[in-house]
Amino acid sequence: MVPAMHRPAQINVDLGAIKENIKNEVKHLKDKQQLWAVVKANAYGHGAIPVANAALQAGATGFCVATLDEGLELREYGIPKPVLVLGIVPVQWTPLAAQKNISLTVGSLEWLKAADKILAETNQALKIHLGIDSGMGRIGFSEDDEFIAANKFLQDNPHFEVEGMFTHFSKADDADTSYFDYQVKRFKHMQDLLTIKPKYIHVANTATSIFNRKIDSDIVRFGIGIYGLNPSSTPNTDDLPSEVPLKPALSFTSALSFVKQIHKGYGVGYGATFVADKDQWIGTVPVGYADGWQRKMQGFKVKVGDEYCPIVGRVCMDQFMVLLPHKMSAGTPVELISADPTAPNNIKAVADQADTIHYEIACLLSDRLPRVYKD
Ligand SMILES: *Cc1c(COP(=O)(O)O)cnc(C)c1O
Repeated sequence: MVPAMHRPAQINVDLGAIKENIKNEVKHLKDKQQLWAVVKANAYGHGAIPVANAALQAGATGFCVATLDEGLELREYGIPKPVLVLGIVPVQWTPLAAQKNISLTVGSLEWLKAADKILAETNQALKIHLGIDSGMGRIGFSEDDEFIAANKFLQDNPHFEVEGMFTHFSKADDADTSYFDYQVKRFKHMQDLLTIKPKYIHVANTATSIFNRKIDSDIVRFGIGIYGLNPSSTPNTDDLPSEVPLKPALSFTSALSFVKQIHKGYGVGYGATFVADKDQWIGTVPVGYADGWQRKMQGFKVKVGDEYCPIVGRVCMDQFMVLLPHKMSAGTPVELISADPTAPNNIKAVADQADTIHYEIACLLSDRLPRVYKD
């Protein structure tokens, strides 16, 4: 995908805000606790390499990604710190991970045995973190017998260095902590079964680190907080208050590409879902669902010049239309997403409109949009 450089539409990323968010979290860390920056999915749409470099400057001591390729990208750009892949990587790529000093997540004895055979051929040692499924129902060990056998298998095994053991909570952003407490109990139980000694035991994502501060975790896997967004993730519900100040880093700007007056009875967009009831001014914005600006945004108000104007008609693949309160000129700036959390078009408001969470909005912003950075 080529970024569209000759179109007025861009994602603006404030690296100063990113550094501030990380520094504020680092201030909250306990003694010896580390912050590993989660930069998976192109740093939640913000751009993996610029964000990783900013995170390093602000005090991150490691990185988490979702795929081996994302880890390789960090290595390619010379990021020297530990990198952990949070997903399961097919065993055939374990020598590559070992060679690049990238740590992988292990979730089963079967995987370990298969990886062991391959690593034996290349005579390499792989750093691993034991993933524990304590109730997320996604990946990781959940049965005692298998976990005990895996510990035995790893004892004095030259092909693996057990760097960590971790779990992930499914309800760390909930005022009701009963399921969270259940997961803590399950994880502690698995921890009691350990016969090997991982260097790091870690459980905290952003929500856990902010809303459940008391829980021990050698590493905070700080994701959404980097980007200045509150980890509460229920659409159309108020966020839980965060003790750590969070400053959104991303805005999305464009400009009107075309302006016209339409008359009574004239329709706008596919299906003519909007029909003028009088003479009205319509502006066109050169952004559409191919940029990650979903059809669900119909009806949402974006800022055109100084006015909030509703999107009328269906959002097309590459363009959408807004109803203007009066004549405006082509080239008038349009702000689709504001970095100001109090603005009506902040990213949570965008997510609420699309009945989703801001994580998804940020990740869906496509590579067609150039990312522009300021410090
Ligand atoms: C994505 C992810 C994180 C980061 O979560 P945030 O809510 O963005 O802080 C941490 N741990 C795991 C296992 C993840 O998959």
